[in-house]
Amino acid sequence: MNNEIKLFCPATVANVACGFDVLGFCLDSIGDEMVVRKTKEKGICITKIEGYDLPLEATKNVAGVAAIAMYEHAQPDCGFEIEIYKNIKPGSGIGSSAASAVGIVFGINELLGRPYNKTQLTYFAMKGEALASKSEHADNLAPALFGGFTLVKSTLPLDILEIPTPKELFATLIHPQIEIKTSEAREILPKEVSLKNATTQWANVGSLIHALHTNDYKLIHRSLEDIIVEPYRKQLIPHFDDLKFAAMQAGALGCAISGSGPSIFALSKGKDIAKRVEKAMKSMYSKTDIAYNTFVSTINTKGINIINP
Ligand code: ADP
Repeated sequence: MNNEIKLFCPATVANVACGFDVLGFCLDSIGDEMVVRKTKEKGICITKIEGYDLPLEATKNVAGVAAIAMYEHAQPDCGFEIEIYKNIKPGSGIGSSAASAVGIVFGINELLGRPYNKTQLTYFAMKGEALASKSEHADNLAPALFGGFTLVKSTLPLDILEIPTPKELFATLIHPQIEIKTSEAREILPKEVSLKNATTQWANVGSLIHALHTNDYKLIHRSLEDIIVEPYRKQLIPHFDDLKFAAMQAGALGCAISGSGPSIFALSKGKDIAKRVEKAMKSMYSKTDIAYNTFVSTINTKGINIINP
């Protein structure tokens, strides 16, 4: 059995418009890399982080916290050291901390001969995510581990559903270079919702799931609507309405905030339209004085994967 593994830890989009805190999908154009190595010395040690300035101390890093949770459960007779090569900017809204949490639990599991299934791995990774967002949630973790679209039916007990991905679906992402604290994005949300809005929202979630199962792109278009969270959170993202309008005019099926923002995603049928949406987003945001970057990605149906040496 190998003593070392190198991984691609993908970025993810949580919420997917109507599915606040439960839906997510996996990207493949961007992700971190991670090396996990068995050591004779017991314990968890993060030896290197490149790309962004994050704590090496295991208890202050989501990868370390997730690793410790799993390590305490597995009680192996070895230790693990971790190298993290970050490409996903922390706080960009595309699951930077989730990529690290998923990477470490997946890596350790492989090196131990796969004693845990993916749902159990998600449980350990949630302990790490809690460090970043103060709450245990799995809407970025599940798509990073399972790939494709996922729905977290419940976190207690953890129940994750894998939803099929229509083949021609492409994502376009824009990341305005502004900072939104996850805590601020949570505080701005209403504590209660009206029954009328709740009804509309769960109709949209149900129809989106049906559309993904039946490759019904027109229904995806009609379902990608968030009337509960977006009206509040969009206030934190300058020019959100103009950007969404530009994406929809360019042919996107839908456009919404990725996770708690500031990244915004659009879904399109076919790569050409996704590229056209990217162009429209760029042309709109270039009129502002906010720096940004964009990319187009297929939906990554495999999730986290091992990079061949
Ligand atoms: P995103 O908006 O990309 O989803 P997150 O909310 O996932 O960002 O997490 C970012 C927060 O988690 C930052 O405060 C960051 O300092 C902290 N953090 C701790 N460890 C890590 C890690 N290994 N990778 C990314 N962020 C981490």
